[in-house]
Amino acid sequence: MEVRGYNRALMDALAEPGQGAWVRRGPAGGGLMGATEGASIGGRVLVLNATFEPIHVCTVRRATVLLLKAKAEMLERGELVVRSERLRLERPVVIRLVAYVRVPRDVRRRKITRKAVLARDAWTCQYCGSERHGLTVDHVIPRSRGGESVWENIVASCAPCNRRKGNRLPREIEMHPRTAPRPPGPNVFIRVAAPKVPASWEPYLAMAA
Ligand SMILES: [Zn+2]
Repeated sequence: MEVRGYNRALMDALAEPGQGAWVRRGPAGGGLMGATEGASIGGRVLVLNATFEPIHVCTVRRATVLLLKAKAEMLERGELVVRSERLRLERPVVIRLVAYVRVPRDVRRRKITRKAVLARDAWTCQYCGSERHGLTVDHVIPRSRGGESVWENIVASCAPCNRRKGNRLPREIEMHPRTAPRPPGPNVFIRVAAPKVPASWEPYLAMAA
């Protein structure tokens, strides 16, 4: 079944915050462990569209609801199980929506944040290639010279490069971004939402890159 149009209810369901109470699976699979320990085990789940395109990151609890409602299928499971009096579930790591959700174009062109720009540029100064801490974002064509705050005009820049360039145009000081800036793919937002991407996610993110 294909969901036509923008399935707001489903996207809203995915976005709802919450944390499941997860209990680490015992060596023999038995023995109930303390709920306090379980409550501290949070984590994020990578959500793929029916087409296997990564579209979202959600909480374990939200992913579990989607699995229980048969709105998603489990692709990668973790080492944890959730336990309640009536439930015993594997911890989802990567799930795939059963029905295709059309992701609106404007979602891909979300608000430009420093984090998203740095993630797009792999946390590397686009002028000198440095990966030092404290990266800033730089308008390639300065705002004072009519440059717009759009993805195509903003790059990651180390503070020294940013200072050196000042309000000059790239050709005036021969400072050109190493790669032409452009709007990022959806993976960038997944990396921003989960800065520490689990190894089990990488194959799915790589397929979409
Ligand atoms: Zn630099």
